[in-house]
Amino acid sequence: WAKADGRGRWAVFDPVRSARDRAKSALATALPAALERDELVLEYQPIVATGDRRLIAVEALVRWQHPQLGRLGPDRFIALAEETGLIVDLGERVLATACADASRWLAEFPDARLRVSVNLAARQASEAALVGKVAAVLKRTGLPAELLQLELTESAVMATTGEPLRSLRRLAALGVRLAIDDFGTGYSNLAYLRRLPIHSLKLAGAFVEGIRGDDPVSRVDERIVDALVRLAHALNLSVTAEAVETRHQADRLSALGCDTGQGRFYGPPQEAGGITALLRGAAGVASRR
Ligand code: C2E
Ligand code: MG
Ligand code: MG
Ligand code: MG
Repeated sequence: WAKADGRGRWAVFDPVRSARDRAKSALATALPAALERDELVLEYQPIVATGDRRLIAVEALVRWQHPQLGRLGPDRFIALAEETGLIVDLGERVLATACADASRWLAEFPDARLRVSVNLAARQASEAALVGKVAAVLKRTGLPAELLQLELTESAVMATTGEPLRSLRRLAALGVRLAIDDFGTGYSNLAYLRRLPIHSLKLAGAFVEGIRGDDPVSRVDERIVDALVRLAHALNLSVTAEAVETRHQADRLSALGCDTGQGRFYGPPQEAGGITALLRGAAGVASRR
């Protein structure tokens, strides 16, 4: 059928869009079976102290190892999983795997006390069973609650009120850390900062991307980062910068007092074995000192 597009023209048939829609619905159909067949894999991205580059945590990022299409990023299927509700099962799988891996890292490298940070979809945060599920996974894997961080976007937090809000408080009471993901790009209503026991803010990559050199835009973005770091520290929250890609950005973030950073400059998302190798290297360095 014909439909007006944003510019007021009539798009009668758009072969590119319809091919894309078909590809999308094919993925949506295949996703439940993929979950059953264990085609979802986790990669972990280092989160390091901006000062001494020490590995503090890793963020678990899900990928779909598709038999024909190769490794697909979450942008290809997370929204689909949210729409169909499959995100709840998928998220549980991610949480269980991430906690199991973190528990192994703790056993092998106890001094590193590496934390694992797991993304939580709005739908998971709103689930009445969330606290029980998280507590069960921690118990089963033996991971101390303090070594688990859950990341929620501002929009996920805003969608969470009443009972779910209580469950986030109960999670924090267990010792689980809560982080606000992509901070600064969602709703600007900061009231939730007062209502929720948050530990950390993750500054959206867009601000970090703007830190390039001495041009005016860069100066504005640096001032925004500066102000957000001060806001976070005034509230006793730690700050992680996302999407750190250059040495210049890393140096500026460190100078601005940003606690930790994550991005290609520090290390890409990688399979668990890559993180184990990093920990082994760090332990080696420490023991040689
Ligand atoms: P996010 O939580 O903000 O994750 C950070 C994203 O930045 C990741 O994208 C990561 O690969 C990417 N990134 C890493 N280094 C750099 C860099 O140097 N520059 C830039 N520009 N980006 C960098 P990814 O892996 O494609 O994940 C996209 C989003 O999908 C995540 O954003 C998160 O919101 C969502 N996601 C990933 N895994 C899960 C999951 O298990 N559950 C849920 N609910 N969402 C997930
Ligand atoms: Mg995240
Ligand atoms: Mg983010
Ligand atoms: Mg995101």
